[in-house]
Amino acid sequence: MRPTGKLHLGHLVGALENWVSLQGEYQNYHLVADYHALTTDPDTSAIYQNSLDMVIDWLAAGIDPAMSPVFRQSQVKEHAELHLLFSMLITTARLERNPSLKEQVRDLELETVAYGHLGYPVLQAADILIYKGEVVPVGEDQLPHIEITREIARRFNTQYRLVFPEPEGKVTKFARLPGLDGRKMSKSLGNAILLSDAAAAIAAKMRTAVTDPQKVRRNDPGRPDICLVFAYHNKFNQQEVAEIRQGCESGQLGCVDCKMRCAVKVDEAVAPLREKRMYYESHPDEVRQILEGGEQRARAVAHRTMQEVHQAMGIG
Ligand code: SF4
Repeated sequence: MRPTGKLHLGHLVGALENWVSLQGEYQNYHLVADYHALTTDPDTSAIYQNSLDMVIDWLAAGIDPAMSPVFRQSQVKEHAELHLLFSMLITTARLERNPSLKEQVRDLELETVAYGHLGYPVLQAADILIYKGEVVPVGEDQLPHIEITREIARRFNTQYRLVFPEPEGKVTKFARLPGLDGRKMSKSLGNAILLSDAAAAIAAKMRTAVTDPQKVRRNDPGRPDICLVFAYHNKFNQQEVAEIRQGCESGQLGCVDCKMRCAVKVDEAVAPLREKRMYYESHPDEVRQILEGGEQRARAVAHRTMQEVHQAMGIG
């Protein structure tokens, strides 16, 4: 995950819950992709603090660093070396066909694409394969990248010797949670509820959520299936979902009441995370130690893989 600072509900639902549920079933590696952050913005002034803030949210959400190393990509130099070697095994034409590159260029209104930006699926392949990753928990939009990783692994194994597995993408079960305005949830779009938001902030943000535009007055019947707030109830308020649907469709439930009931449930879900976050915020040395420990463990694995790579290639 790129170090974007404090995380929001979309990260919790789309990634963190999945990561936590896979703990114990797999040996997991959790990478702060600080090199990747540079592919679209070379400014590094906030990267360190953003990395700490993000890792604190990971820990608060239940990532256990004793089971799953948590580390910064930039502190395991082997990622950069394997990226370089992999970059010889894929054409620029193949990378230019990557659909998410085209989306990013459009969304970020980029006039030019940096060399490193074009190659970021190659760095991602190195991130995965250096730990011989077999399963990569991803959103559906990331599947094309996993395909590039598989192609690179295949190419290396054929060109030199079998070293790498061909990893599978494991798509997150719960569909993406939209932002409060119906667009993709994003801090920069101002439509996100943060995992660190207090109850009052959650309620204030929830008040701004878009609902069924046809339900103008309290007693108008609504259509929960097209309502954003109902999607949040579905996720955070399973027990009352049938009653909310009935109240909405019959016009007995008004949107303001519905939103406030939803805000209470979201707050109940994030309150334990907020509490853990406060602990780590007041113990920053512990967070730094967790990262350093994770980096040592990651380095040992990455070093072994690079020895195999050198042997397979007959270099070094
Ligand atoms: S009552 Fe609730 S589910 Fe129905 S439109 Fe309003 S906010 Fe949405």
